Amino acid sequence: MEEDVKKKSSIGVIGAGIQGVCLSLYLIKKGFHVTLIDRDEPGKNSASYGNAGHFSPYASVPFNRPDILTDVPKMLLSSKGPLALKWNYVPKMIPWILKFIKNCNTKKMMHTAKYMHQILDLSLPAYDELFDEIDISGLVESKGIIYFWTNKDLKSRELEIRIRNELGIKQQLLTPHEIHDLEPNIKKIYHGGVLYPNARHAKNPRKILQKLFDLFIKKGGHFEKQNVQKINFSSDGQPIIKTDLKFYNFQKIVIACGAFSKKLTDQVNEKIPLDTERGYHVHFKGHDHLLSRPIIFLNRGFGMTPMEQGLRVVGTVELGGLDNPPSKKRILNLVNNAKYLFPELEQHQDEWLGFRPTLPDYLPVIGPSKNHKNLFYSFGHHHLGWTLGAISGKILAGMIAEEKTNLDLSPYKSGRFS
Ligand SMILES: Cc1cc2nc3c(=O)[nH]c(=O)nc-3n(C[C@H](O)[C@H](O)[C@H](O)COP(=O)(O)OP(=O)(O)OC[C@H]3O[C@@H](n4cnc5c(N)ncnc54)[C@H](O)[C@@H]3O)c2cc1C
Repeated sequence: MEEDVKKKSSIGVIGAGIQGVCLSLYLIKKGFHVTLIDRDEPGKNSASYGNAGHFSPYASVPFNRPDILTDVPKMLLSSKGPLALKWNYVPKMIPWILKFIKNCNTKKMMHTAKYMHQILDLSLPAYDELFDEIDISGLVESKGIIYFWTNKDLKSRELEIRIRNELGIKQQLLTPHEIHDLEPNIKKIYHGGVLYPNARHAKNPRKILQKLFDLFIKKGGHFEKQNVQKINFSSDGQPIIKTDLKFYNFQKIVIACGAFSKKLTDQVNEKIPLDTERGYHVHFKGHDHLLSRPIIFLNRGFGMTPMEQGLRVVGTVELGGLDNPPSKKRILNLVNNAKYLFPELEQHQDEWLGFRPTLPDYLPVIGPSKNHKNLFYSFGHHHLGWTLGAISGKILAGMIAEEKTNLDLSPYKSGRFS
């Protein structure tokens, strides 16, 4: 009987990025009626389109490390480094920055590492469940990911390598020779590296998202291209979504709008300190043959992934909010860094700015709202939202279906900030 009620429940999911689409698929699998709402075509320009395409189950060591605070001034002064500020946004971001600093201690770092590991470890099997139902041939490669560095940077890597060893994550230290054997086209500036052999990469994140979305529609899901303005609740707690043009009633709704989620959570009176780390990409078309797998050059904090669109050069953490225009300087920085590793590169294409959704403790929010029983959240997956799409969807769909789990989900609660 209870099962029948669940089956008839209607769920509205706001946001058709990788989080919203994977969640919608897992909800459909459980028998819910699902309507996905997005102001844009799925994956047209969102973070889920422009990311580096890494499936990174190893990446549980967070940014809130104690040593990061001493590195920040150096990073900000370097024109080649990954960190940048939009100064007009800094005053607005001070509360987030203060909360981030509070999280930069060993205890909090290890807490984040443990609970990121809990979901990262399940991330690939969760995708495989979805990929079993679509044709991803040629779209996902399983060749691992290489990080490399020059001598200078080795020390700061030691912490990450140690924690990953403690968590039982597969990693293989590489000599310069081994790096050259794996990726012979990179200029030989490196002194060491590490291969994460279990990592995979997407050859075209947008195509994968589109295939998952098509499967959702094929399985009876609905899509509404609408801009959500407001969420209200009826006197008995049923959510009502107001878009530019329409009203929608659902039994339960989910906010999965990536970095834009805060615009909606603020309205429902839950003060969640979500902000964005802006990142960029450019393509060097026709140059994807230069690499077999993604690489990350740690000294300059950027990466390159061979994709269908060409060699995608990705990086930068720019603290600057959602409304500032893109920075030409950051694009130039990426282009110059790419040419440093591959001097043969010439003209780049497709300058793109995207928004990582980031909370100051570097854990996502997955679960119910603190204030409204029929409202759920899935956002804040920062640098790992592509990797975590399927597992977050699977976990949240299980919560909505009121299923039991052996996982400890309390660290992902929205209420942890109040
Ligand atoms: C440069 C860069 C590189 C990255 N590389 C990687 C990587 O290699 N691996 C990895 O795991 N992660 C990576 N990430 C992170 C990852 O891309 C994001 O965490 C993830 O895509 C977030 O997915 P999402 O579905 O939460 O949000 P999004 O992809 O941002 O989707 C949110 C959706 O909500 C919609 N929306 C917003 N507001 C409204 C509204 N009011 N009404 C209707 N619709 C709305 C938007 O149109 C959008 O479609 C990277 C991110 C960046 C920026």
